[in-house]
Amino acid sequence: MKYETVIGLEVHVQLATKSKIFCGCSTEFGAPPNSHTCPVCLGLPGALPVLNEEVMNLAIKVALALNCSVSKIMKFDRKNYYYPDLPKNFQISQYDMPLASDGYLEIETSGGLKKIGVKRAHLEEDAGKLIHDEAKRFSLVDLNRTGIPLLEVVSEPEISAPEEAYQYLINLKAILQYLDVSDCNMEEGSLRCDANVSIRPEGQKSLGNKVEIKNMNSFKGVKAALEYDIDRQISLAEKGERISQETRLWNSQKSVTISMRSKEEAHDYRYFPEPDLVPFEVEKKRIDGIKNTLPELPNAKRERFQSEYQLSVYDASVLVSDKNMADYFEEAIKIDPKNPKTIANWMINDISAAASATNLSFNEVRIKLKSRYLVNMIKMIDSGLISGKIAKDILKVAIETGKSPYEIAKEKNLVQISGEDEIRKVARDVMAGNKKSVADYREGKKQSFTFLVGQAMKVTKGKANPKLLNKILEEELQKGDA
Ligand code: ADP
Ligand code: MG
Ligand code: ZN
Repeated sequence: MKYETVIGLEVHVQLATKSKIFCGCSTEFGAPPNSHTCPVCLGLPGALPVLNEEVMNLAIKVALALNCSVSKIMKFDRKNYYYPDLPKNFQISQYDMPLASDGYLEIETSGGLKKIGVKRAHLEEDAGKLIHDEAKRFSLVDLNRTGIPLLEVVSEPEISAPEEAYQYLINLKAILQYLDVSDCNMEEGSLRCDANVSIRPEGQKSLGNKVEIKNMNSFKGVKAALEYDIDRQISLAEKGERISQETRLWNSQKSVTISMRSKEEAHDYRYFPEPDLVPFEVEKKRIDGIKNTLPELPNAKRERFQSEYQLSVYDASVLVSDKNMADYFEEAIKIDPKNPKTIANWMINDISAAASATNLSFNEVRIKLKSRYLVNMIKMIDSGLISGKIAKDILKVAIETGKSPYEIAKEKNLVQISGEDEIRKVARDVMAGNKKSVADYREGKKQSFTFLVGQAMKVTKGKANPKLLNKILEEELQKGDA
């Protein structure tokens, strides 16, 4: 029997406001434990929440970018549960009237563009952080994070493979980055993803029992956890065993998922309307105002890059997947409008490789290798000042040091030798030192030519202008006097 996979993702986005969602405490990361707290986020009796208007504005921005309809009524609910990181014993969230619903996000798949439905996106407050140290007999609680604004974006179960889930996350992150609403930093927890996955026999309409996987700390981790659990579910099904609905934890060291608990149901949480936050109407004027501030989003930019600069879908997708990259590309194009494909190639291949080798984000690379430096370097290659091969080395140094490619080429004496006389001298020296090869060549062994070019390159440490060298060496060999 063949099985197909059904995946739905729940992504928690930390919205980058200065203060928390229901109080004025700072959201700054890394402050001393419990220093960013007040009676509201500590859950002290009688303290009342007030909605941070900026949180709502940012959430509406995301809702519109994800093609969702925005709820006309802003309503909050209490989700009740007990845990030491939740001082009020309930979390303020949105239950039956989420801020956003019925949107979609497009991903690139091998079969073309695919729309993944966004079921809903709702606001909620984050819980605190527990620190467990196995060497100690107690755990520590840091409540700086309680009340940090979160937007939970819930997809429809329409993702059919781990790779698609990965693409969904990449594209969602790009949109959030373009909107400038979140740091999108998975290490600091500003982006967290739970993955739901089930399998069903091919062709079956109804969905199988879903497993919810938590505790992934990277997009690659989400993909790996899904791959692992799909295999696990299929082998259970093949043995005729039942797949139980449960929550599992991803263990990234062992690359396995481990059962944590059987899945709780919504009614376990005893949701009820938050009496301390009265529902209110969101004015159409506000939503329209926010709509007008939306920037060009990744998909639109990709389409424009394809048509305006004749880039392939692949090149354009890579460039727009990081806003810093897209901006850099357009900066470079402004200086040198004739070379979009060359600029894109350098960015996608060499600069990206150098960035990941040095563990830098594109934004950090961009500070060192300014866009005009890249343009100048391409000009240096075109004019024969440096070879493409040497340019690759120069690029690495430029990214490390922040120096301009021209400066580096001068300093390291890497400027290509393009003087006819100098090259002719090298050619004649090489011929004099390799009489046998010269004789072979004249007798028709054409491979000898490649050997002689190689020798000349060795002498010049790869700096001879290859075109010129070929031409001059050929001329000298024709002369027949060496
Ligand atoms: P719950 O009430 O258990 O949280 P939801 O309906 O809110 O369930 O869905 C949570 C997430 O799980 C969504 O992203 C949804 O797409 C996904 N999902 C729901 N059913 C399945 C299923 N059978 N297989 C895979 N994913 C599913
Ligand atoms: Mg849910
Ligand atoms: Zn507070």
